[in-house]
Amino acid sequence: MTPTSGLGGQLSIDLGALARNWRALDKVSAGALTAAVVKADAYGTGIDMASKALHAAGARFFFVATPDEGMAVRAAVPDAHIFVLYGLYPGAANLYIRQNLMPVLSSIPMLEEWLAKCVERNEAYPAGFHFDTGINRLGFRLSEAGQVRERIERLGYAPQMVMSHLACADQPNHEKNRTQLALFGSVISQFPGIPASLANSAGLMTGRDYHFQMVRPGIALFGGRAVSGRKNPMAPVVTLHVPILQITDGRIGETVGYGANYTLNRTSKLAVLGYGYADGLLRSLSGSNSRPGGKVFIRGRLCPIIGRISMDLTIVDVTDLGGDLPSPGEGAEVFGPNISVDDQADAGGTIGYELLTSLKGRYSRNYVGTGELPE
Ligand SMILES: *Cc1c(COP(=O)(O)O)cnc(C)c1O
Repeated sequence: MTPTSGLGGQLSIDLGALARNWRALDKVSAGALTAAVVKADAYGTGIDMASKALHAAGARFFFVATPDEGMAVRAAVPDAHIFVLYGLYPGAANLYIRQNLMPVLSSIPMLEEWLAKCVERNEAYPAGFHFDTGINRLGFRLSEAGQVRERIERLGYAPQMVMSHLACADQPNHEKNRTQLALFGSVISQFPGIPASLANSAGLMTGRDYHFQMVRPGIALFGGRAVSGRKNPMAPVVTLHVPILQITDGRIGETVGYGANYTLNRTSKLAVLGYGYADGLLRSLSGSNSRPGGKVFIRGRLCPIIGRISMDLTIVDVTDLGGDLPSPGEGAEVFGPNISVDDQADAGGTIGYELLTSLKGRYSRNYVGTGELPE
């Protein structure tokens, strides 16, 4: 990150809560290894600090999307076991080996390249295998399982782990979960003795049947809601405060923001926030007269965002604070203890994952707490 004055947005990350969340999930999945998914800069919290805190909590297996993220975890946690979900980039096997990263192989060409490297160096470098059981993204096709098995048996190679990914785990009663579970069962029966992994956060919370030997929570570690329509049991980890630049007076009948799509229907006090879509405050959180948008928490009250969110600025109606108006320089909470990242995301028609991973650039991060157990 570029140096900051600390005057912009403040993202506060509670590493103690992060560690508690990992331990709580590790209890739920007792009997299985609890990995930690730290892709996308650990869901916006900072891959370096988050990985260290998770390691201190007890995590030893980490999942990232890209090799660069893998290198970041390697630097932060030297003894981590790191799986790279994007698999093997063509020509990158030497880098993975040097960094001790395990590709999650998901296609025959990837498998061939990895096995060729193992043969060349006469060493069985570890890797995961990813089978697609119904999401149609990365993964060997189910019909390729025989070919994969045949290929590795001939060489006497065994993967570290065989995994798949659920499409609808956030809806525990969705029939697709049972279907994928059954298909995954048929895959792993072809790889006896190899640790298996199917569950993300929501799958972990859905039940033991989904745990196998390793679970892969991401969002729940960071306090986000994994399962819809249920109370979120995780401790909040991330709080975002953004600065109030100015308080202005608006008169009845005037409009607010680009497009003039919000008309004031009363004499109003408006707070101008120094934060906009360039910072990750999604435009879908804008509020018009016909459709309310997001809210931010100021001086003990949730105040509505009105008008279009612009690149650097957002307008909030603070009239209802009455005489207790905030001063310039004060922070407005966008998400945190008073408005959850998921409630904010709901208001913008998106998910907490997107809000967390959209944050960029113009804020400073403050870490509180550590991953260590309290005395
Ligand atoms: C992102 C991801 C996870 C973690 O998912 P959450 O819903 O954040 O718990 C697990 N497995 C795979 C393959 C992923 O891409």
